[in-house]
Amino acid sequence: MSFQKIKGTLDYFGLQTKKRRYVESVARNICKLNNIEEIITPTIEYTDVFVRSSGDSSDIVTKEMYTFKDKGDRSITLRPEGTAGVCRAFLEEKLYVATGLKKYFYNGSMFRCERPQAGRYREFNQFGVEYYGEDSYLVDASVIILADSILKSLGLSNNYKVCVNTIGDFKSRMAYQEALRKYFSENIDSLCEDCKNRLNKNPLRILDCKVDKDSEVLKNAPKIVDYLTKEAKEYFDNLLKTLDYMNINYYVDNNLVRGLDYYTDTVFEFIACNDDSNESLNGLAILAGGKYSDLVKEFGGPSISGIGFAFGVERVISLMDKLNLFPESINDRIDYVVIGLDPNTKLYTLEICETLRKLGYSCEMDYKNCSFKPQFKLVDRVNPKYILIFGEEEVKENKVTIKNNDTKEQITLNIDEFIESLK
Ligand code: AMP
Repeated sequence: MSFQKIKGTLDYFGLQTKKRRYVESVARNICKLNNIEEIITPTIEYTDVFVRSSGDSSDIVTKEMYTFKDKGDRSITLRPEGTAGVCRAFLEEKLYVATGLKKYFYNGSMFRCERPQAGRYREFNQFGVEYYGEDSYLVDASVIILADSILKSLGLSNNYKVCVNTIGDFKSRMAYQEALRKYFSENIDSLCEDCKNRLNKNPLRILDCKVDKDSEVLKNAPKIVDYLTKEAKEYFDNLLKTLDYMNINYYVDNNLVRGLDYYTDTVFEFIACNDDSNESLNGLAILAGGKYSDLVKEFGGPSISGIGFAFGVERVISLMDKLNLFPESINDRIDYVVIGLDPNTKLYTLEICETLRKLGYSCEMDYKNCSFKPQFKLVDRVNPKYILIFGEEEVKENKVTIKNNDTKEQITLNIDEFIESLK
């Protein structure tokens, strides 16, 4: 019997690993420029962490979580997203006691029991950012600008569209939910079974329905703009003005509500699209986020506002692949392959390799073969910048032949002089 990976999971190896690390390192770098601290939280949390945050009617909680009982009969869940765990840590570790804006980024596996398809995995990686402690449209704008600058630094530019919306403050949302409830009750026959259930629990969710998304009923539903309080409207207008000022090319999408309960006011999604026509590549979001004013309080903490986003590393990789955006340099070459052409040279080449590594040069050797052919097969496979050749002569005379693997030029030097030149 041979084993296969679980459906919807991925093995990373070779170039694919380098692509993933490249995307992550570019994002990390931008976070560093923004003075954002890394936070690492567990992959497993008590199930309630997600139920309390995402809401018990969200798709994630009702359908997509990997939940199990541990040996102590506690309900545990593999994290389906990052915000809830970071928020739990923010509170539990009392990170909120520091004054001012607290900024964190995270990077790790998320798990959702979704039907695997292109761009939709059961274990995938998210790179996310969370800001806590300052309730301002300027903070919201800076988070959207940060998201945009990460994607731009990866070479994406006209390949995604930035959709923003507001779902208003509490008062706006209550009025809006009431209007939605009334409207959808009058059109209940055109709703899918899930949406019929959402009608009482959270009618906003119906706007996020994947089944009904193109239906006329959804398109003609009341719009949040008509139910915003003066404050919520002002907040959103100021956000848009800031994005205009900062030259962010955004679209206001009135039907954008996001699938999780904890969002308030600002929500946004970056959707992949074709270079010139803005036509959706696959209709999937590459990055999504929003503001959450009440999540910390919902977890039993003080009333502290937060805002964050996460992008799907796999979706970004696949978009960059389609557009050929990975630089050659991700395929970094090893510096040296060290070849020993005599059985007596093997110990010597082992020692040379260690010396090179200690000096900070990457190298590889063939531990088994002494003849030319198999060792040059290794050179072909590894493609080093240089080849160091030790034949019987070289060892006897304390020399080394150095061959440039690109120009094929070679010189023979005294080994001590060569090592000295590397220092
Ligand atoms: P969400 O937490 O659902 O807002 O997702 C944030 C981002 O994570 C999305 O925009 C996607 O890029 C990515 N994502 C969400 N679900 C999946 C999945 N099942 N497989 C791969 N990427 C995903």
